[in-house]
Amino acid sequence: MKMGEAVTDEYRRLGISSQVFDFGETLLRSLEGRFREIDQTAEYNQLKVLAAFQENMIGESHLSGTTGYGYHDSGRDALERVYADIFHTEAALVRPQIACGTHALSLALFSNLRPGDELLSPVGKPYDTLEQVIGIRPAAGSLAEYGITYREVALLPDGSIDYPAIEKAITPRTKLVTIQRSRGYQNRPTLSIDSIGQLIAFVKNINPKFICMVDNCYGEFVDTVEPSDVGADLCVGSLIKNPGGGLAPMGGYLAGKEELIEQAGYRLVSPGLGRAVGASLEVLRSLYQGIFFAPTVTAAALKGAVFAAKVYQSLGFNVNPKPDDDYHDIIQAITFENPMLLTTFCQAIQAASPIDGHVLPEAAPMPGYSCPVIMASGSFISGSSIELSADGPLREPYIAYLQGGLTFPHAKAGVLKSLQSLLDAGLVELPSPIYT
Ligand SMILES: *Cc1c(COP(=O)(O)O)cnc(C)c1O
Repeated sequence: MKMGEAVTDEYRRLGISSQVFDFGETLLRSLEGRFREIDQTAEYNQLKVLAAFQENMIGESHLSGTTGYGYHDSGRDALERVYADIFHTEAALVRPQIACGTHALSLALFSNLRPGDELLSPVGKPYDTLEQVIGIRPAAGSLAEYGITYREVALLPDGSIDYPAIEKAITPRTKLVTIQRSRGYQNRPTLSIDSIGQLIAFVKNINPKFICMVDNCYGEFVDTVEPSDVGADLCVGSLIKNPGGGLAPMGGYLAGKEELIEQAGYRLVSPGLGRAVGASLEVLRSLYQGIFFAPTVTAAALKGAVFAAKVYQSLGFNVNPKPDDDYHDIIQAITFENPMLLTTFCQAIQAASPIDGHVLPEAAPMPGYSCPVIMASGSFISGSSIELSADGPLREPYIAYLQGGLTFPHAKAGVLKSLQSLLDAGLVELPSPIYT
């Protein structure tokens, strides 16, 4: 059997017609240049990660962890030095005890702010789950309850940064400036490393003592530089997104200035004990292997995003970013304008998953989110969004956020499956006359 026929047979088993497959192939041919750029970034980042391993002389003994208090956990401490080297920071805190990205961000804020301080977001509303951390929506245990106030400056209508308004929003109490790189559940542009660098330079010029923190979720390894390379004092993210490479079973990281990381250690563990405590149990091997794989896994996810953008743009949907744009994170937003389309899309992504592919997701309320959310995540690591996944809050304009893909062939299959499902449901048509 010829390769072409064999592969289309396998697609047919997933319910994908040769018509949909051919449509995808035509679009893929136009993406060759984009994919080459993505591979070049992965190549650079792979070498950066390799160098961090070698410079820290990572050995077999670092891969097994400790129990109990976790004193003298050399594998954990060396992993933190590896992260610090990758991010070019003085220190890092990389722990399985950090439950998720929100926890990592919450930790960074609670450990480095004190009552009376003010937090500033100069790039608009932060990620949904942070609203309760900050107390924008009242919540038990929020920063607001501790007398830490918050101000935000919206992005301008074109998505650019409103510098004059930021200057006005700074007060003598401003202590920490939080910059979210990725759009999260907003249809605004993701910030480039350059624009993050300019923003940091601007606020540091007003007061060099401001702590500039970047919520780096979904951004790691998309570029050859990280926010810490352009002045961020602290980069924060989740290990079940890019830097975990799909292998980290849990965890979060903070990379930044030594004093900020030290404070985070006191908050995570306890004052006095700090970073010296915290057993790594059996997870170190996966965390090391995960960060080693992260550059190519991120590249696979990015190719999946670009391919989805191309497919849905050619069907006439508004996509953000557009396939020819520079990508600054792995999230692909597709605006469906219709709850049926959003739901069918997410259900198809689930149906293309290796785990729980037989399960039909439905919209449901989610802790931390203000409206029902539909989530497709048939992943090895529960809720992992570096694995192929899609979600969307059931609110206008019904945007699906697609992200992840441990391998590009899987991301591609998921995107083709979603197109097939929308076609089968009569919700879209392939552009005619070329593809009919
Ligand atoms: C995912 C995400 C978070 C929160 O991370 P969780 O692991 O879901 O708690 C915060 N900010 C951004 C931009 C994110 O994408």
